[in-house]
Amino acid sequence: MTVARRYRFEAAHQLPWHPGKCRGLHGHSYVLEVHVSGSLDEHGMVMDFGEVDTVVDKHVLCVLDHTHLNEVLDNPTAELVVAWIGERLDTAGLAWSSLRLWETEDGSVLFER
Ligand SMILES: [Zn+2]
Repeated sequence: MTVARRYRFEAAHQLPWHPGKCRGLHGHSYVLEVHVSGSLDEHGMVMDFGEVDTVVDKHVLCVLDHTHLNEVLDNPTAELVVAWIGERLDTAGLAWSSLRLWETEDGSVLFER
């Protein structure tokens, strides 16, 4: 089974190499979905939602929310932002199975193990 949690953060970025409008400074209301897969424990849970929240809040949201992503990553494409998030969650010991980062309402990147 897979449990999923959804989070939201606001951040600015720019992609100076981009030929289109992503070149300029602009912001997104990012939505991050964190999926954790596993078998049920003795309490009938894969992982407590609150445990996922604690890790994601501390290691991702508190670092990225209301920031300029170019100060954290050299090239903050949605793909590289979700890869960075995956590394942060790995370091924090969260055994995520997949991550999906929505940059716009219609555009997202799925990062699977
Ligand atoms: Zn953008």
